[in-house]
Amino acid sequence: MPAFKLGKLVMRSLFKKPATLMYPVIPRQWQERTRGHIENQINDCIFCSICQKKCPTNAIVVDKANRSWTIERMQCIQCSCCVEVCPKKCLTNENTYTTPSTEKVVDTYIGAAPEPKPVPKAAPAEAKTEAAVKAAPAAEAKSAEETPKQEAKAE
Ligand code: SF4
Ligand code: SF4
Repeated sequence: MPAFKLGKLVMRSLFKKPATLMYPVIPRQWQERTRGHIENQINDCIFCSICQKKCPTNAIVVDKANRSWTIERMQCIQCSCCVEVCPKKCLTNENTYTTPSTEKVVDTYIGAAPEPKPVPKAAPAEAKTEAAVKAAPAAEAKSAEETPKQEAKAE
């Protein structure tokens, strides 16, 4: 390399920022498309187990009875297959990595208990009784009016 070119390169390198970061003082900014770790908006999950069936590494375990969704972080290869098949779109592949660990990291998400279904309202028993009480004297009076007419007809 000619001396002129080399000198230019050295001078440029002296005054520009280093390509490396002072980690962990300056955290790295990940790209939006980086496949870091899977997150679940558990309250939208219907525990259908499709993600568990499609996961190529068996990293997901879904327990419908206990409304729990579990992922073994070190087993996940961030393929996003579960994200693509989820019918409720409650899974996302976030762009930050799981903290390195010497032990297996297992995260469990527990869904909220389902709201009780509304019971259709029946007519209140008291109202029925009141209506029956009001209707009874009127019915009695009507039958009393009809009885003499019937007797006259019979004569
Ligand atoms: S596929 Fe989606 S909705 Fe079904 S269990 Fe997995 S996360 Fe929940
Ligand atoms: S990203 Fe891939 S490996 Fe990880 S849990 Fe989802 S389907 Fe399994």
